[in-house]
Amino acid sequence: MKQPSLHDWVALEQFRRSRGLEPDRLRRVKFAIYQLHEPIGVALSRLRPADAQVLLSEFDLEPLEVAATYDSTVDWSKKFVLRTSGGELLESVLLRASTGRTSVCVSTQIGCRAGCPFCATARMGLHRNLSAAEIVEQVLVVARAARCEGRRLRNVVFMGMGEPLDNEDELQRAIAMLLDAQGAGFPARRLTVSTVGIPAAMIRLIDRFPEVRMALSLHSARPDLRSRLVPWSRKHSWDELQAALHYVAQRHDSAAPVMIEHIMLAGVNDGADDAQALIEYLQGIRAHTNLIPFNPVPHAANWQPSDRARRDWFAGQLRRAGIFTTIRYSMGVDIQAACGQLALSQRAG
Ligand code: SF4
Repeated sequence: MKQPSLHDWVALEQFRRSRGLEPDRLRRVKFAIYQLHEPIGVALSRLRPADAQVLLSEFDLEPLEVAATYDSTVDWSKKFVLRTSGGELLESVLLRASTGRTSVCVSTQIGCRAGCPFCATARMGLHRNLSAAEIVEQVLVVARAARCEGRRLRNVVFMGMGEPLDNEDELQRAIAMLLDAQGAGFPARRLTVSTVGIPAAMIRLIDRFPEVRMALSLHSARPDLRSRLVPWSRKHSWDELQAALHYVAQRHDSAAPVMIEHIMLAGVNDGADDAQALIEYLQGIRAHTNLIPFNPVPHAANWQPSDRARRDWFAGQLRRAGIFTTIRYSMGVDIQAACGQLALSQRAG
C-alpha cells in the first residue's frame, strides 16, 4: 500500500490522534520542517523516539530524491534534478539574485502539453501532474540547500516544468500549504504563478488567493504569432483571455501589477509591430512587462535570442508608452536552465 506523504496533513493529524500526541508537539515538528527547513531526522527529534519510529515507518518522508545538481559558473543559479519515487525526473532551480534575494522556481508537471516550440519541456509531452506534496517538497529541498549557505528563501515561482493551471487542484493545495502559518508561512505576494493563460482557472486562482501574483506568458500580442509560440492558447478565445487578464489585474492589490512575460526571439516577436501590438494589448491594464532573454535549446536551432541592443530598444518602446518594463537576466545559460532541458537530456542519456 502506498504510504501517505509527510505533507498529507490529514494523515498526519490521524497519526497524531492515534499516538495520543498533544497538538503542540506536531506543530513544532511542522515548524521545524517548513519554516526552519531542518532535515527530517532533526525535525523528528522533537517527538518521542517511539513516535518518531512509527512516523518513519508509516509515512513517505521525502518524496523526492536529489539526482543531480548543477551550479552555474556565469551567475548564481543552481539547478536541481529531482527523482520521484517512480523514477521520473523533474527540475527545480535555486535563484540567487545579485540583490541578495533568494527564490525557488518549481515544476508543477512532468512534461507539459502547452507545446511552446522554443521550450525543452514541450518535447516530452505531458507525463503526469505532480502532487501537492511533490510541489511543496521541491520548495523544501531547495530551501534546505539555501539554508546551508545561510540564505533564506524569499520567493516561490511556479515557472518550472509544466503549466501550473493545467494541474489546478494540486497547485491550489500546494499554495495553501505554502501560505499556511502552520506550513511554510510565506506571504501570498511572494508566490508567483506563471501561466500561458487558462482564463477560467486564472479567475478561480485569483478569487481564492487574491494576493498571489500571476504572470501571463504572453510572448506576443499578435494573435496569429501567439498561437504559434504558445499552441495551447488556441483552446481559448483572445477575448476570453483578455477579460481574465483584466479581472486578475483588478483583483491584485495596488502594489502588485499583473506580470506579462515576453520571451525575446530575434526576428520573431521583437519588431516595431510587436511592440505596438503589446502596447495596445495592455491599454487599461496595470501591468509589469518582463522581457526574457531566450536560452537557446538544441532542438530548435532556428530560434535565436534577440540581441542586447534589440531588447533595450524594445523595452524603451514600452516604457515610452508608460508600461513598467524590466529585462530579466536569463539565468543559468551554462547549466541548461531553460526549463526541462536537463530532465530531457538525462532521460535521453
Ligand atoms: S514554456 Fe512552459 S508552458 Fe510552454 S511548453 Fe514549456 S513548460 Fe509548458
